[in-house]
Amino acid sequence: MWLATNVPLASLTTLRLGGPAQEVAVLDDPGDFPELVAAAGRAGSAPRVIGAGSNLLAADDGYPGLVVRMATTGVRLDTSQDDGRVLVTVQAGHDLDALVAEMVAEGLSGIECLTGIPGTVGATPVQNVGAYGQEVSDTLANIRAWDWTTGQETEMIPAHCGLGHRTSVFKHSKRWTILTVTLALTPSKLGPPLTYRAVADAAGVPLGEQVLLDETVAAIRQVRDEKGMILDSCGSDGRTAGSVFLSPSIPADTARHLRAEGAPVNDFPDGKTRVSASWLMSAAGFSLGQRLATGARISTRHFTLVADDGATAASFADAAATVAEQVQRATGITLTAEPDLLGNLPAYARLSPHGNLGF
Ligand SMILES: Cc1cc2nc3c(=O)[nH]c(=O)nc-3n(C[C@H](O)[C@H](O)[C@H](O)COP(=O)(O)OP(=O)(O)OC[C@H]3O[C@@H](n4cnc5c(N)ncnc54)[C@H](O)[C@@H]3O)c2cc1C
Repeated sequence: MWLATNVPLASLTTLRLGGPAQEVAVLDDPGDFPELVAAAGRAGSAPRVIGAGSNLLAADDGYPGLVVRMATTGVRLDTSQDDGRVLVTVQAGHDLDALVAEMVAEGLSGIECLTGIPGTVGATPVQNVGAYGQEVSDTLANIRAWDWTTGQETEMIPAHCGLGHRTSVFKHSKRWTILTVTLALTPSKLGPPLTYRAVADAAGVPLGEQVLLDETVAAIRQVRDEKGMILDSCGSDGRTAGSVFLSPSIPADTARHLRAEGAPVNDFPDGKTRVSASWLMSAAGFSLGQRLATGARISTRHFTLVADDGATAASFADAAATVAEQVQRATGITLTAEPDLLGNLPAYARLSPHGNLGF
């Protein structure tokens, strides 16, 4: 583990925004965890944990405490299960996209639709990461976490984790630091039925058909790439935190009406029907590439917000608020911000109904 003081959070987040953290610890060896506990003891409170910073807006004033960047890597496979599934235990700092590629190469199904999502495996339970019909909750077996309230390591099964649509007990809490994530994956040549039109089209098959695992990955990467949702190939749209807004849940009559207008409306594993926030932005009259505040604009490829030179966390938050207000006026639907807040930025915290505390 190494420790440094006064580290710019802009260097630790994909939006490349944010002032200095008072202290940053990078944990690259799980055996060093007691050192981190000691550092947190000196700081006087639980640290704020981050991974790759791909779902974070860090405040311009920075963070007045200890931030821990999880950089532990490694994967262990357990093939001794009676039901044929393989238990895959992954260190929190392991790169998610790399894990997906490793599991597809092993012929294991369950997370292939998460291909191209940036970030660490340890962050995936925090907002129950998901895409194109798969969520981490589909395959999560258990988590090992440090509980800063009890001062002990604990094992949490999914029933303890409050996993929902882009949420969990870990979201907006710094009680737990996730140390390892264990997934139960299934040996299979095929991916799941392709239930998203764009993905099925990219794979060249009818909606609902299954294709080989690597073909599933290729189709999803093609769709993500076209939308600028693969970090390495975003070009000038690369300062991004992905979707700035959650897909809002809508009642059945609104779903019928929006489907008739051609909106991407999908049914989610939690039983709710949601419309794409990006579509709502377009329907509210925004255009690709449109500048909304100093250094903050809509991506040229997809309806989400990105940063440019001159952006600050405050101007990014202003742009997000402008979008939410205009969508509300035009459609009557309330948008909620997805990326978590690090530090103090009330204008952004207001966009999250459950309190994006920043702590
Ligand atoms: C281009 C792009 C595309 C994206 N596409 C998707 C998508 O399709 N689906 C989706 O769900 N998300 C998507 N995201 C969002 C993001 O990639 C995920 O939320 C990812 O899981 C964040 O991982 P991270 O390591 O970067 O977490 P960070 O951004 O560093 O942290 C996110 C939150 O998790 C907490 N956290 C991180 N690690 C731990 C840990 N070990 N223990 C406890 N808490 C922790 C942090 O405190 C913070 O609140 C996208 C982002 C980008 C930039």
